[in-house]
Amino acid sequence: MSAFFSDLPPLDKTVPGVQAIEPIILPRLAVLYRRRAERLRQLDQQAQTTEEEDGTPQRNEGYLGFAARLVDEQARWLRDAPLSADDATPVSALLGDGLSRPERPSAAMLEKSAYWQDAFRGMVENLSPFMPEPAAAGLIDLLYADRNELAAKAAALLGGDYAAVDAGRSVILWAALSVFWAQAVALAAPEGAAGEVLETGGARCPCCGAPPSGGLVLTGDREGLRYLQCSLCETRWHKVRATCSVCGGTDHVDYWSFETTDAVIQGETCGDCHGYVKLFRQDRDPALEVVADDLASLGLDAALEEQGYVRATLNPFAFPV
Ligand SMILES: [Zn+2]
Ligand SMILES: [Zn+2]
Repeated sequence: MSAFFSDLPPLDKTVPGVQAIEPIILPRLAVLYRRRAERLRQLDQQAQTTEEEDGTPQRNEGYLGFAARLVDEQARWLRDAPLSADDATPVSALLGDGLSRPERPSAAMLEKSAYWQDAFRGMVENLSPFMPEPAAAGLIDLLYADRNELAAKAAALLGGDYAAVDAGRSVILWAALSVFWAQAVALAAPEGAAGEVLETGGARCPCCGAPPSGGLVLTGDREGLRYLQCSLCETRWHKVRATCSVCGGTDHVDYWSFETTDAVIQGETCGDCHGYVKLFRQDRDPALEVVADDLASLGLDAALEEQGYVRATLNPFAFPV
């Protein structure tokens, strides 16, 4: 069973002594996509298996299965059209250097970058047959819109203005932007990765400024360390545990789950700023994948929101509406 393979690069064991905590960890992107797609399919099957009257299990593809197809598209794009250093330049120019914050991309920069627009087009063409009619039509309209309009929508999403784009379009746009950003950050990272990571406020990725998808407590060589994982560039950045990811407060951090002990998914809430992030405890279940397991556990979000907490993370398959 391959469920426990990790996309994290192994630690360099040739360095003697106690390993320093890495401020950021870049994923092995091809492995990350494969793992995410597999996990989405596994969770989709668990959710979708119903029994027919004669007791034979029947499986219908649900939304998690569709999300897996989209991740397959990202993987295909990475494999067949890897980003060149030249195409990465516009993103590299925006990255934080550890001292300054990453800059938000402008619509003009996005309009000039063909890579993500080509990825978007390929994804819409391959996936629209699997979508409900109105959603497919909305995406195809956007495909034929001018580059200016497409770039304006992308800039709105990257600026956190999710209400400006309908949720169905947002998911595909974000997937295309993400496969672009993740590769660009990896190409630019060698200098950035060596230094200290800027302490970012408001749970923002130090490499690209996007919100995290969630928090991970790692296992294996990095047992017990907590990282946040970027929803856009997929970088993980270290965050001390029992510290609010949003405001940095430590006095009123609480953990919530539906299980009484050893929960594999926990809501980490802060009584100071009322933000929360979900923590995925790979130290308790190494098969967890942030994006897939987040999407399959939205019931916990509903419960936390009912308590008055505000979600600080973004799932790229479930934009707020
Ligand atoms: Zn990022
Ligand atoms: Zn807080």
